[in-house]
Amino acid sequence: MKLVETVAALEVELDAARAAGKTIVLVPTMGALHEGHLSLIEEANQVADAFVVMSIFVNPTQFGKGEDFERYPRTLATDIEVLSKLAQAPAVLFTPAVEEVYPAGLDAPLKPRAGALGSVFEGIARPGHFEGMLNVVSWFFEVTKPEVAVFGAKDAQQLFLIKRMIHREFNDSIAIIEARTVREEDYLAKSSRNRFLSPEARAYAPNLFASMIQVQEEIIEGELPTVALAKARTILDRPPLAKLDYLALVDKSTFSPISDEFSGEAQLLVAVVVDGVRLIDNITFYIQEPA
Ligand code: AMP
Repeated sequence: MKLVETVAALEVELDAARAAGKTIVLVPTMGALHEGHLSLIEEANQVADAFVVMSIFVNPTQFGKGEDFERYPRTLATDIEVLSKLAQAPAVLFTPAVEEVYPAGLDAPLKPRAGALGSVFEGIARPGHFEGMLNVVSWFFEVTKPEVAVFGAKDAQQLFLIKRMIHREFNDSIAIIEARTVREEDYLAKSSRNRFLSPEARAYAPNLFASMIQVQEEIIEGELPTVALAKARTILDRPPLAKLDYLALVDKSTFSPISDEFSGEAQLLVAVVVDGVRLIDNITFYIQEPA
């Protein structure tokens, strides 16, 4: 695994890989690697002739004021150690400096891309988050020019917006691999932020997945989505420990909230702030037309 910090050095690696007929596969992350991230590398390695570039960059513009940018875990030395022990490590680990990604400075305006989806669900609690995220992902796409990029299904709204950006701005030239969410034994989705959970918060955390599965089962058995959601909301919202932000069902193809009459592929989204730590999760399931 080559450690690369600049675009110039990255280009040398990419040129050689392309000359050797390789397919560039990008795996963007913010580091503090866990098994979820490692599963993205496994997915990337499934691509024929893959030349896997993993990036680690804690992107300042996707953190709002008062969010955890300063506190976000930065564990580069451990990350490198973990990666180098893999049977199939990425070919390149790209860790650009903030100045390289933002030559005009962090206060320069970002190209607006998120539109109305930037201010719903995650966008309400995290204004500007998706503009910052899309800005940095498009930067990584531009400097890497991957044929394939791997993202986790865990961040549903992020993935929807990235797919839309690839369609609108990259001419559908990048294929996306959507990697399934890797979970702990009690089904808590793995996350770099889980380390901040207090014992009480950690004990509560499996409720997210359990409640989503309950909603899914009830709907599949014929309960109205609004009724199933309302019931689960009362279970999830447990102040002062846990404050439910949203539990919502959207049409996976549009990310718009669905009505009780909807049939098709639905995505159930949840976000809860547990003892100061924001947890998000989602599942996808099919809602049949009523018989
Ligand atoms: P992050 O470092 O948290 O920004 O995440 C980098 C990538 O890893 C994103 O594509 C995430 O969706 C993905 N990811 C994060 N957590 C998981 C998980 N538990 N399972 C699978 N992918 C994940």
